[in-house]
Amino acid sequence: NAPLAQVDPEIAAVLDGELARQRDTLEMIASENFVPTAVLEAQGSVLTNKYAEGYPGKRYYGGCEQVDIAENLAKDRARTLFGAEHVNVQPHSGAQANAAVLHALIRPGDKILGLELAHGGHLTHGMKINFSGRLYDVGAYGVDPTTYRIDMDAVRKAALEHRPDVIIAGWSAYPRQLDFAAFREIADEVGAKLWTDMAHFAGLVAAGLHPSPVPHSDVTSSTVHKTIGGPRSGFILAREEYAKKIDSAVFPGQQGGPLMHVIAAKAVAFKVAASDGFKERQQRTLDGARIIADRLNQADVAGAGVSVLTGGTDVHLTLVDLRDSPLDGQQAEDLLHDAGITVNRNAVPFDPRPPRVTSGLRIGTPALATRGFGDTEFTEVADIIATALKAGASADVDALSARVAKLTAEFPLYPNL
Ligand code: PLP
Repeated sequence: NAPLAQVDPEIAAVLDGELARQRDTLEMIASENFVPTAVLEAQGSVLTNKYAEGYPGKRYYGGCEQVDIAENLAKDRARTLFGAEHVNVQPHSGAQANAAVLHALIRPGDKILGLELAHGGHLTHGMKINFSGRLYDVGAYGVDPTTYRIDMDAVRKAALEHRPDVIIAGWSAYPRQLDFAAFREIADEVGAKLWTDMAHFAGLVAAGLHPSPVPHSDVTSSTVHKTIGGPRSGFILAREEYAKKIDSAVFPGQQGGPLMHVIAAKAVAFKVAASDGFKERQQRTLDGARIIADRLNQADVAGAGVSVLTGGTDVHLTLVDLRDSPLDGQQAEDLLHDAGITVNRNAVPFDPRPPRVTSGLRIGTPALATRGFGDTEFTEVADIIATALKAGASADVDALSARVAKLTAEFPLYPNL
C-alpha cells in the first residue's frame, strides 16, 4: 500500500500535470466540468472493489449491503430531482445509457429519427459506424438553413416520411432549447416513442432553468459529468411502463457489474444538484454563455468573419461560425489553446470544411461557472476570445495568456489538493 508516487511515478506525474493544466487554463469545453472534492473522494474509494451485478435487494453477489444503500440514494435523489417515475443509475457512460435505451425500446432493424450528426446530433443518435447506425434504420432531421434552429414542421415532415419507431430529441452542439411538447405530439402522430437525451442540459433542467423533457418523454437519458458536474457516467429516467425493460437492457443487456464507486459519486452529485448553490451556479453558467455570445456578436468581431450561430444562446454554450473567417476551426482551437483557453472545434451545419478541421468552435461555460466565474470574469473571458479570433494569426498570444493567468490566479482550482 505504498503511495502512487512510489508505485508508479509515471502515472503520478500525469495526475500532477493534469491538475496543473486544469488549474492554469480556462476550461471551456462545453461537455466538461470540475467535480467537487466530495465526488473525487467517493469515486476514488474502496467501493471500486465491489462486484454488485443486479439491482439493490436483488444482487447476484453477496456483501452488497453497503453498495445497495449508495445505489438507492442515487436513485431516490435523481427521481426527486427530475420528477421521474423510474431511474436507472447503472450506465457507465452516456453512450452506454443510450445503447440501453434503444435496446429496451426497439429491436434491431427498427427505425429511429434524430438530429443530424453534422447539425449537432450525437454519435449514438444514428451515426453510420456507431452501434446506433449499424443496428437501426436511421433517419435524420436537420436545422433550418437560414435560422440554424430546429424547425418542428421539418421534424414532423421527416417523421411522416421515415415513420420512426423512436424519435430522439437531444443534441451535443445546439445553442437553443427544444420544444418537447411538440416532439411529443409528433411522436404520438406517427406512433413513435419519444426518447430525450438531455446529456448536455441536464444540470440546467435540475436547476429549473431549462424546460424539463421528463414529463413529455417515454425515456430520458443523460450523462452526469457535463452541466450536472458529477462523475463521468450516465443514467436513465423512464416512465414506469418501461422500468423493467430499461433495467434489463442495462443489466444484463449491455453491462455486467455496475461501477459502485461511480454510483456513490453520482449520489453525491445529485445531492449537490438539489442545493441552492447549484441553482445559482447554473444561472451563472447561462449568463456567462450569453455574455460570450453577445461579445462575439459585436461589430468588430463580425467584421473579421466571426459570427454566432442562431445569433445567441439559451443554454450553456455558444457555437461560433468561422465559415467567413480566415481561421478554420482547428486554427481557432489552437490559437485559444496557446492563449490558455481550452475549447473544441466543432462542425457547423452545412460546413464546407472536413470534420477534422471544421468551421466552428463550441464554447461552454459550465466549468468556469463551477470555478466561481460571474459576469465580470465572463466579460473578460469573452473579450480575450473576441480579441484572439479577431486578430487571428497576428494575435498577441503573450498578452492574451497574461490575461488568462490573472483570471486563473484569482480563482484557484482545488486549493486543498
Ligand atoms: N449524449 C449526448 C447528447 C452527448 O453529447 C454525449 C457526449 O458527448 C453522450 C451522449 C455520450 O456520453 P459519454 O461520453 O459519457 O459516452
